[in-house]
Amino acid sequence: MTDKIQGTALITGASTGLGAVYADRLAKRGHDLILVARNGVQLEKRATKLRTDYGVAVDVIAADLTKSDDVTRIEQRLIDDTGIALFVNNAGMSLNGGTLENGTSEIQTIIALNITAAARLAIAAGKAFAARGTGKIVNIASVLALAPETFEGVYSGSKAFLLNLSVSLANSVRERGVLVQAVLPGATRTEIWERSGKDIDTFPAEMVMDAGDLVDAALTGLDRGEEVTIPPLADEGQWDAYQAARLAMGPGLSRREVAGRYRTTQAA
Ligand code: NAP
Repeated sequence: MTDKIQGTALITGASTGLGAVYADRLAKRGHDLILVARNGVQLEKRATKLRTDYGVAVDVIAADLTKSDDVTRIEQRLIDDTGIALFVNNAGMSLNGGTLENGTSEIQTIIALNITAAARLAIAAGKAFAARGTGKIVNIASVLALAPETFEGVYSGSKAFLLNLSVSLANSVRERGVLVQAVLPGATRTEIWERSGKDIDTFPAEMVMDAGDLVDAALTGLDRGEEVTIPPLADEGQWDAYQAARLAMGPGLSRREVAGRYRTTQAA
């Protein structure tokens, strides 16, 4: 079924994992698609199946989003293609090992993909959609944005960056007809684990979500207009309490006076 009214969805990292599931679910909903990843052959295979299964138009762009020129091509597509109504900012990677176990090249690569490309594309989509007065942006962050003690620090830091960017961007474009959603998956069964040398099967089974369940839940959150969606978190009140505690600090976070505990005692 094709429903052109819904507009085109551009998905980064659509060759495997969550991005491939988003492609399937959004095609099923009637969106035409633009699929982006490095592996053009894999993308074209997926595109052929989606065209056949759902009768939607699917365009494929092979791009390495650690390369600035490739990010520019996708930014330009988000700006120029006024048919794009939904941007799924999903491409991302994890690192092998812990915070002290990676070198310069690995750190630069993950920052280029998870931070630089994700920020440039979210902001390009934000500007384009705000100018059009409509659109939705889905930023795939992680629960590790909230749990830096439990994982490698550059990955968890990159996801905290994306959560903060997403919340700030939502604030900037909300009144201009644009919905920005940050999705925070917990451990989810995708290729990212094997790619980063980790075995997802070492996690207790009750901690690992199926990729299809994750994307379906995230889309339910999007349909509800949520700006932050945490599919595994059963007690929504915990997020609300965390937000309330964070916002309550607001008035105390920038003051002329140094806090009492930091005032040095002058010797008489
Ligand atoms: P995945 O299966 O490894 O998918 C990652 C996607 O990103 C692939 O399509 C990959 O395609 C693409 N990609 C990787 N490097 C790229 C590059 N340099 N340029 C362009 N595309 C690139 O992993 P996933 O779990 O679905 O990850 C999707 C998002 O979910 C990521 O942002 C990840 O951080 C986030 N996330 C995952 C989990 C989890 O447990 N799975 C939990 C929280 C958050 P190519 O190799 O073809 O380029």
